[in-house]
Amino acid sequence: MILVAYGTRPEIIKLFPVVRELQRQGVRFKTLFTGQQTDLYEDVKDLVPAPDHTFARHFSGEQKHNTLANSFIKICSAAEELFTHHRFDYVVVQGDTTTACALAQVAFYNKFRVAHVEAGLRTFDLENPYPEEANRSVIGQIAAVNFAPTPTAKKHLEQAGAKNIHLVGNTIVDAVNIIQEEHRIPNATSSHEVLITLHRRENHEIMDELFEELNQVALKHPDLRLTLPIHPNPNVRKHRERLAASNIRVIKPVGYLDMLRMVAASAFVITDSGGLQEECSCFNKKVIIVRETTERPEILDVGLGRLVGGKILANIEWAKTPPAKAVVSPFGDGRASERIVRILAGGGLSPSK
Ligand code: UDP
Repeated sequence: MILVAYGTRPEIIKLFPVVRELQRQGVRFKTLFTGQQTDLYEDVKDLVPAPDHTFARHFSGEQKHNTLANSFIKICSAAEELFTHHRFDYVVVQGDTTTACALAQVAFYNKFRVAHVEAGLRTFDLENPYPEEANRSVIGQIAAVNFAPTPTAKKHLEQAGAKNIHLVGNTIVDAVNIIQEEHRIPNATSSHEVLITLHRRENHEIMDELFEELNQVALKHPDLRLTLPIHPNPNVRKHRERLAASNIRVIKPVGYLDMLRMVAASAFVITDSGGLQEECSCFNKKVIIVRETTERPEILDVGLGRLVGGKILANIEWAKTPPAKAVVSPFGDGRASERIVRILAGGGLSPSK
């Protein structure tokens, strides 16, 4: 039996193609929602079946009091209870969240095999992104199977001595393709729309400056229409009044289909999100990366991404110039989930009845 585990929006987005592929290939599995990000769960929960297991009650009503360590402890103790009563051949975790790191460790202590999806991303800077760089490094070392999205990620895993590394691509490309096939989203070639997301912990302390910078972008480029689906984190929300220009729209977080529609409708994107950098490559959109470093150098290599730190305004002219050529996403070919499930199913698991 496979357990597919997730606790946040990006994990659900990157794991729903794996869940669909498990169903398609008839492999037995259960799902777990840890409840780490209950406030964004509603927007994406329909991408996956209702979870077989949930720790959400451990998080209800007091989310604002959850420090990183507090979330980690809650997930660990609930996982220990779950793993005492249920055995799994694999615990599949995705990325670098507290959910992924905590579950991987408790699974490891229970002698369950951990399968890490999107393994090997590194900046080699423990502060950037924090705590994700530490989380994914730990998971990579204890995982029984590591699914690397790109050759660079594979190389990092090899250098770290990680076990059973498979280069499969990133499931985000599968996710985009599934939504595209179902909804045929038109990709704008000429647009004045700019999509923005900002939420990273490293940016919380300078969020007021970043919002001020965005306001300047709006004032100096009145031809642009900026839209920011604002993250529910209070460290982000408390600065929203800085976005006063009339051509900035602040909206609630949106579901995944609407998000991809907004990416496709954009001239370019401004973000500190990891997943959005990958999605931009699927739609051939330039992306201003509001970070000091990225674990996704592939987006820089194909000429669609630019690391700007906090200097958004100075890079708007670059972003306004359309990409020189149409690129093929460097993050995968849309068949990552198929490969992942074949490898997991080939690991001595019984077929579904
Ligand atoms: N996303 C979404 N709705 C929103 C904002 C983001 O569906 O209102 C999606 C986005 O397309 C991407 C993912 O959420 O796939 C990114 O999540 P986040 O920025 O929280 O995490 P990261 O990608 O940095 O791990």
